[in-house]
Amino acid sequence: MAPVSEDVARAATVIVGGSLGGLSTALALAARGRASTVLERTSGRTQRGVAILVSGASLSRALGERAREIVGASLGSASMRQGTYPHAWWDVYSALRAAADAEPLITIVENAHVSEVGQTGEYAWARTDDGREWRAEALLGADGYRSIVRRYVDAARPAATYAGYVVWLGQSDLPGSFADRVGGPDFFTGANDMLAVYPLIERDGSVTRYGWGWFDPNHTALFRRIGAVDGSEVKYTPRVGAIPDDIYDAMIRRAGAQWDEPWRSGVVQAFRDRDVVATPITEYLPDRVVNDRIAVLGDAAHAQTPMTGAGFEEAVADAAALAEALGGSEDDVRDALERYEFARLSGMRARVSVGQSFSRSFAGV
Ligand SMILES: Cc1cc2nc3c(=O)[nH]c(=O)nc-3n(C[C@H](O)[C@H](O)[C@H](O)COP(=O)(O)OP(=O)(O)OC[C@H]3O[C@@H](n4cnc5c(N)ncnc54)[C@H](O)[C@@H]3O)c2cc1C
Repeated sequence: MAPVSEDVARAATVIVGGSLGGLSTALALAARGRASTVLERTSGRTQRGVAILVSGASLSRALGERAREIVGASLGSASMRQGTYPHAWWDVYSALRAAADAEPLITIVENAHVSEVGQTGEYAWARTDDGREWRAEALLGADGYRSIVRRYVDAARPAATYAGYVVWLGQSDLPGSFADRVGGPDFFTGANDMLAVYPLIERDGSVTRYGWGWFDPNHTALFRRIGAVDGSEVKYTPRVGAIPDDIYDAMIRRAGAQWDEPWRSGVVQAFRDRDVVATPITEYLPDRVVNDRIAVLGDAAHAQTPMTGAGFEEAVADAAALAEALGGSEDDVRDALERYEFARLSGMRARVSVGQSFSRSFAGV
């Protein structure tokens, strides 16, 4: 095993996962003067979702002044204030990433696939699958619905469960003639499925594209057959090529029959171009989110159906609560993380529960 790096060994906090939840937390901690090292298994991003509603107010409260300026400039201050239209996922990620890259208290390490975490009486540690190890006072898992950190925090309930349906996600151009006729997000029901459309706001406040999610309870057997769902667990989001052509053809026919314009053409074209991602939906109702020096946040702590529209908002609330608990305090981090759990657990459970009620009635499981 490679020796523990002197630099990294001094990190106040290690965060596993560098997507929206991990970056928001690193920035919120930095705003309180606390350094962190973010370990991300990819060398870019793994996109979850297409449309992210940014509440300018709660993000502004979590971020420090410099990060607020960078994120505001990147997303467009006018569009952040708007609050009713979501931004494209990639725009939100890029804004947070730019702010994190400019922050001296944040170190991002890519291609760091954490395979194990643990703690001693004095520090928490994370090990990557190539044998590197990081140590810190506190370790935070922002590693998503299949969190490895959650397995440590609550070994009795390690896995999120399949909600009984998939969401096909895409993004399409909005025909100019409709641009001034769209409101906020809209939902349309089909035979037993549903299309959610989210007009996306650009930096200059204009709306020229929309993200959409087609909630589909009809293909669970397929996802089991290809191994993406196994028992009550989701193993992965399948690649486009893993789904047979006849399924895409059937979805195109169904879109033609069910959805109205302007959405129909965009959805049909996306299926024709295979420019869609079918994500099996998971949920996790947490009993605990902290184990001494180690805690989870974001989807790792409270994976929820996108129907809540609140995954990012909840991750930002976690980031703010963690910064409040850990930042600027001389306390033992174990006490600080206990305060985080106390502040957030009931809110996390409430939001996931609302989503589960929807999922049960939608998918009938
Ligand atoms: C289909 C779908 C639609 C959604 N739509 C919306 C929406 O409209 N609005 C909204 O607010 N939210 C939405 N969400 C949820 C939202 O994207 C998340 O709640 C939010 O982004 C917080 O995610 P996260 O950063 O906690 O986890 P993730 O986005 O899952 O990120 C986890 C990160 O951890 C990394 N990672 C995982 N394991 C390891 C490891 N072992 N070592 C190192 N790194 C690791 C991953 O590569 C990834 O970068 C949607 C989610 C889905 C699935």
